[in-house]
Amino acid sequence: MKGKYDFFDYEKCSSCGICLERCNYLHFTHEESVEEIKKLIAGEKTRILDDCIYCSACNAFCPDDCHPYELILNRAYESGRKNGIPLKAKWVMPLPYPPQNFRSALVPSMPQDEKALINKWEAQSYDLAHEEMMYAGCNLLALPYLANSKVFEDLPIFGRWDLCCGEMFYRGGVFDIVQQQADKLTEYFASSEIKRLVFMCPAGYRMFKEVLPGQFGAKFNFEPVFVAHWILDRMNSGKLKVERQLDISATVQDSCHARIMDPSEEMEPWREILGRIGVKIVEMEPQWGRWLLLWHGCGGQTVFWIEGRTHKCFKGAERGKGNRGIGASNLLCWLLSDCRNGWLSILPRPTNAACHGISQICHWRVF
Ligand code: SF4
Ligand code: SF4
Repeated sequence: MKGKYDFFDYEKCSSCGICLERCNYLHFTHEESVEEIKKLIAGEKTRILDDCIYCSACNAFCPDDCHPYELILNRAYESGRKNGIPLKAKWVMPLPYPPQNFRSALVPSMPQDEKALINKWEAQSYDLAHEEMMYAGCNLLALPYLANSKVFEDLPIFGRWDLCCGEMFYRGGVFDIVQQQADKLTEYFASSEIKRLVFMCPAGYRMFKEVLPGQFGAKFNFEPVFVAHWILDRMNSGKLKVERQLDISATVQDSCHARIMDPSEEMEPWREILGRIGVKIVEMEPQWGRWLLLWHGCGGQTVFWIEGRTHKCFKGAERGKGNRGIGASNLLCWLLSDCRNGWLSILPRPTNAACHGISQICHWRVF
């Protein structure tokens, strides 16, 4: 019988193994892939949970849309309930607040004006009487300067650590906390006047648009809007005018979430903006199509609280090295803190080439 959080399509799955065979991290042969997916489906011990970095690409690999990623998450959930979660997982958990985790630990060393942004956004979280607002989740709270641009000067921003979208927990299969956040956010937004809620973080956008309502029963009265669409709308309406062309080349790292959403949701609007502001995009070598390349995202970090491992996250970074020398002068990341910092750890020094795409668009006097 299917469990509450079991979103895998058992009936459609033919155990063909394609999802695992194409995975960039498991290194399974075809035979191993078939064998391991069968074990996963049967709930038996499998090597998948040991080596998976929770990047979600297997969902895109499955030709029958069976959602093998959700099956993996569900088995991680079962394992966590049975065996518990390692204490060191607290380092990546944004809740309960105030914690000491890898994002909130940045706050004490922030300059006063950056801390002031967080305080302003927290105060704004008690006043949701605006039709259009921006949500600051944990990634934006960790890097507040990203939204400190005249591009967003008439968009009220709010955020608090406890209004977490639950993404880190979702990726670890800690579904009880995701459910808790889905319920909390439903209640929090119930009386708000927001009609369009803008998301800077691609992970938060997918959580609010697909995961929380679709899998955890959250109900929101607003339309989630990804920030790239919001910027494009303003460019199209003439509210944002391009004042100067950048005339640079860049390659783009898409977030894990962008890769499993429709390309028109996150990947294409960013590229359109970049093209309009004079950035020549050089796509990374497409091993399986450009948008299925796998990097260092926080899925790698998630895994160490499940399996007590720390090294998996570096596999993606190692693979990223293979894309040096493609001729781009800049590398743009779209997930906020994790991916950019991952790239900075592997690029040759000195470098200023890895940056968040939003800083290219909103902080380089483009508009
Ligand atoms: S989930 Fe999809 S790709 Fe994986 S074994 Fe089943 S049908 Fe094949
Ligand atoms: S989530 Fe990523 S690492 Fe895990 S099995 Fe799927 S493709 Fe492989």
